[in-house]
Parts: sequence; structure tokens; C-alpha cells
Amino acid sequence: METVLAFDVGGTKTSCALVANGKILRKKEKATIGSNTAEDFVQQIFKMGQPWIDKADKVAVATLGLVEGGCWSAPTLNLIDGKKFPLVKKLTRLFHKNVTIVNDAQAAAWGEYKFGAGKTKDMLFVTVSTGVGGGLVSNGRLITGKTGLAGHIGHIQIDPHGLECTCGRKGCLQAYVSGEGISFAAQPYHPGATTKNVFEQAEDGKDWAKDILHTSASLLTTAISNAKSMLDIEIAVIGGSVGLAKGYIGMLQKEMLKEDNLYSVKIKEAILGSNAGLIGAASLD
Ligand SMILES: [Zn+2]
Repeated sequence: METVLAFDVGGTKTSCALVANGKILRKKEKATIGSNTAEDFVQQIFKMGQPWIDKADKVAVATLGLVEGGCWSAPTLNLIDGKKFPLVKKLTRLFHKNVTIVNDAQAAAWGEYKFGAGKTKDMLFVTVSTGVGGGLVSNGRLITGKTGLAGHIGHIQIDPHGLECTCGRKGCLQAYVSGEGISFAAQPYHPGATTKNVFEQAEDGKDWAKDILHTSASLLTTAISNAKSMLDIEIAVIGGSVGLAKGYIGMLQKEMLKEDNLYSVKIKEAILGSNAGLIGAASLD
């Protein structure tokens, strides 16, 4: 059985694990380093993985940002200035093993497809947390795209004159649906409100909070239905801290009932949690 040294690099934390056949054997976490150089970043990954590398047959990295031909760019992470960084080459040199890299949401989609809630040949994974990420499996294959952009449902533009998105474009779905979008919309009603506060206030019966969450769920449901019209997906697996917050999936399911049967997609809850990226990256060929 093949053992993989897997990493999941997020904006706030980096996880490192030994993974075999969809199971996490060992795992540790560290805060992702701040805005230093890409070399510092590579060193952090290397130092975390080094004690376990002898137990692994290969290395797999799931990371935020875009992955194209073994190179990595992360426009929202200051440390590499949006430039394409040869991450595979650098890590191969350090670990002396085969290294693969993939976008974190795409990795999570593959993990949920292989070992989680999305076991159907055509599925979409959507993670709703600070931002909105996504990954696509079509006819049993992970679609990454030439530039690594495939499945990034959060950056579907829904209003060309709308709110500014972290990607620099205006009116992306993410700006309205994500945790950041939810807390932004809450400010006029509850200055300083966090996403968690909005969920609490909605549970307390406050109409303004219920409306904000309804807008988020409704816009995301429409985007998922639109994805079906392009790719004929059967299931959408929802993860992330907002996606899995109490009541959110129920709202998506309720909104989906309004869709015509032809465009309706089954909504399921992700089951691999924060391990989806590690497990998915490790099980990609
Ligand atoms: Zn965007």
C-alpha cells in the first residue's frame, strides 16, 4: 500500500499528514507563515515533512491559489506576490521524492469523490468559509483546467458593478455568499458582527440576519444549478465553516426545491471535514 506525505496549505494553517488509502495515519498542524519569501514558505513545508519523509513513497501538496504545470501562484497570499513559483521543482529537490501539487478545493473535491459524500461520477464540491472555493469531478475525473481555474465557482461574476472581490474583479459570487460577504452585509444592522454572530442572530429570529443568510444560500443554489446546465452534475457536496454551519445546508436544499427538476442538484454535506484536501491530494495520481 502506498503511503503519501500530504500537505494542505491554507491561509491560516498548514497541515501535514501521512495518508494511505484514504486514511490519515498521522497528522500535525502549524500556522501558515506570514508574508515572507516563497523560499521561507518552502522551508516551512520541508521542516514539517522531513521527520516523516522516510515513511512516504511520494509527496502531495494541496494549496490555496492556482496551480499550473507544477507552478503555484497565490494572488491573495502576500508572500509570493502573485508570481508563478516552481513549487514542485523546489520540493522535489528537497524531499527526493515525486511531488504533485493541486489547488486545495480541487483536492477536497477529489477526496469527497473518492472517500466521502460525493461518490458519483459527476459532482461539484463547494467550500463556503472566508471565501468560496470549488472543485469539479466530471465523468469520474478531476477537472483542474489548463490554468488551474476549473471549479472556482466562487468567482462566477453575478454583478459586474457589484462588491469588490478578493480576486480584484467586481461582483463575484464569493463577495456575497462567503463568510466575509455575510459579515459585510451585517454591518449596518450589527456593527462589528462576525459570520458566527449572523448565524446566532438568525437562530434568535432576527429578520435581518435570516435575510442575509437566505441571500447567501439563494445565490449559491442558483450558481450550483447553473453548474448543472454546463456539466450535468448530479451532486453538490458542501463543506467549509459556513457551509457546515447549523442550518445552512437545509437552506440550500430548500432553495433547490424551487428549481425546475432539470436543473435541480442533490445537496449533500461533506464528510471528510478538514481532512478532505489531504486525502484528496494523496489519492490523486
Ligand atoms: Zn473573485
